[in-house]
Amino acid sequence: MGRSGLVRTVLVLGGTGEARRLAEVLAGRPGLRVVTSLAGRVSSPHHPPGEVRIGGFDGVEGLAEWLRAEGVDAVVDATHPFAARITESAVAATERLGLRLLVLRRPGWREVEGDDWRWVDSVAEAAAMVPSVGTRALITVGRQELEPFAQLDGVWLLARSIEQPTVPVRAVLGRGPFSVEAELRLLREHAIDVLVTKDSGGDDAKLVAARRLGVPVIVVRRPPPPAVTVVSTVDQAANWVI
Ligand code: NAP
Repeated sequence: MGRSGLVRTVLVLGGTGEARRLAEVLAGRPGLRVVTSLAGRVSSPHHPPGEVRIGGFDGVEGLAEWLRAEGVDAVVDATHPFAARITESAVAATERLGLRLLVLRRPGWREVEGDDWRWVDSVAEAAAMVPSVGTRALITVGRQELEPFAQLDGVWLLARSIEQPTVPVRAVLGRGPFSVEAELRLLREHAIDVLVTKDSGGDDAKLVAARRLGVPVIVVRRPPPPAVTVVSTVDQAANWVI
């Protein structure tokens, strides 16, 4: 039971479409206060219904303190599968306070007939592999992780990100989901012969487009999931919160 004894409080660690949809489902529930936390990486984030707080917590200590002060009863970590640090903080802080924690992670992508994928363990490894695969690369790993690509010689690079990257690379800005047609146009227009992505899961239009055009894909594996209950759909998470 939360601070008031009547209203329960759930913290949704967000920054994904799933987190937003979960907040939408939970927001209407009587007796439930829903707070979504965003890291503040994007300057104009889509705000979910319910309360929204923005910015880091200052590690495990800060998060535990915030959870205590706000009388949080349960936490759903619906952050991106590659946002491993905040997930670690959530595991440690909820363990310390004896709070319930659920991780909501969309399933990763699976190779199908016609794909030409090469799996790597890190973005740095992906960058190192690019010159052996192609000469015109589309990089979709997020603007924070472009550094290793900017140092590649002899490869024409195009990064796609929501906001302008801080490293000096050619960039096309856009926020998904994208249609397969738009992805086909982008790959064709720039004669892309290698695509680099993280195994984010979800919208797979770029992978479908790469398959159709026979473009090889370098896929960065996810960090291992935390040792807590993990579900893959918004409905499962919404049922857990009840
Ligand atoms: P990260 O490496 O796990 O987190 C770095 C730090 O950012 C955390 O230690 C925490 O700071 C703060 N933080 C992260 N998510 C937060 C949240 N939801 N609310 C409050 N603070 C948060 O995460 P990241 O990879 O930088 O991702 C940042 C955000 O972008 C996440 O919310 C994630 O869902 C979203 N996102 C990430 C990716 C990706 O590819 N990594 C893609 C799409 C969206 P303190 O230690 O100070 O608490």
